[in-house]
Amino acid sequence: MPRKLISILVISFIAGFSTSCDFPFKSNLAQIAEDYNIEFLKPILKTEESEAEKNHSGDHFGNKHHEEDHYKGRPPKHGHNSHHDEDHELSSHHELQDHEKHGHSSHHGDSSSHHHSLENIKFSKHQVDYGILWVQNSAEYSALCHQAYNIASLKLEQKLVQKKSTKKAAIILDLDETVLDNSPFQAKLFLNQDEYTSEAWDHWVELAEAEAIPGAKTFLDSINPQKVEIFYVSNRHIKHLDATLDNMKKLEIPVKKSNILLKENSSSKEIRRKLISENYEILLLLGDNLIDFSPIFDAHPSSQFRYRLMETLHDEFGDKFIVLPNPNYGQWLSALHNYDYELSRLEKYKIARESLLSF
Ligand SMILES: [Mg+2]
Repeated sequence: MPRKLISILVISFIAGFSTSCDFPFKSNLAQIAEDYNIEFLKPILKTEESEAEKNHSGDHFGNKHHEEDHYKGRPPKHGHNSHHDEDHELSSHHELQDHEKHGHSSHHGDSSSHHHSLENIKFSKHQVDYGILWVQNSAEYSALCHQAYNIASLKLEQKLVQKKSTKKAAIILDLDETVLDNSPFQAKLFLNQDEYTSEAWDHWVELAEAEAIPGAKTFLDSINPQKVEIFYVSNRHIKHLDATLDNMKKLEIPVKKSNILLKENSSSKEIRRKLISENYEILLLLGDNLIDFSPIFDAHPSSQFRYRLMETLHDEFGDKFIVLPNPNYGQWLSALHNYDYELSRLEKYKIARESLLSF
């Protein structure tokens, strides 16, 4: 069997396994480090393991199942609200579960509520979701998107000049919250105080009415198709291929149906990236979620561990990796929830409160 095929099978197995377990990929980061020969992960994994031995309450990924010190040592961050899952492009392996997460309903709540009275919280429409509000109403959000795409243009130009391989150049973009704006879907859920359901998401996607993220179309239009192949790698389900294509065509975004790679079996995008790299040299990756860039985030790392993994790649951001802002959902939030897609709204609310760093 050719080596390449074997490695694809191995990757598929790992990725497939990851999507079928309850707490996927727990030990698979080590496997990923091994399979992709990611040297820098190995010392980190060692440290994690010895820390885990010292502290039986957590697994070696730093997941502590929401015990009190769960967030200790996490770099300071400001508060967030809403939710969603890994990739609103629903990681369907969690389809049902994720949905719950998606529900933006909430959080924050009334500042007078204390932990002991949390059970009495009513999630009311008087609360505001600042994530959605910001995306839809701040020029600053749009400015950040333009900033990302302006850097992408600059880097692409540079990388084309430096490119040595004989393969054709390619760039890979995520779709949701990278090229397509789904904030109306989130706003509707919030206004109706609805929880996320896959039916609601399917309905929105089938409408094919998402607008483009600021800067995306200008960037994509500027690309010479003779020189650079554009791929879209998204975790929208494959059943939404036609609607997705239709949406992009309405927006007059350059797209070929065969270059849209949606999710079939695995939420990990690595297999799809590997397939592309067989024939193309990938110069840039654009996305709003760290799983859009590297398989190391596929292992469901804890929130704290995500920071460490991200730091190992810090030189790539604004270079090969171009990150778009998304305060509303993503792996950052799934990680806070410890990838538990069964949490109630109240439990998520508690985690949100506990995750705020006060003084
Ligand atoms: Mg996305």
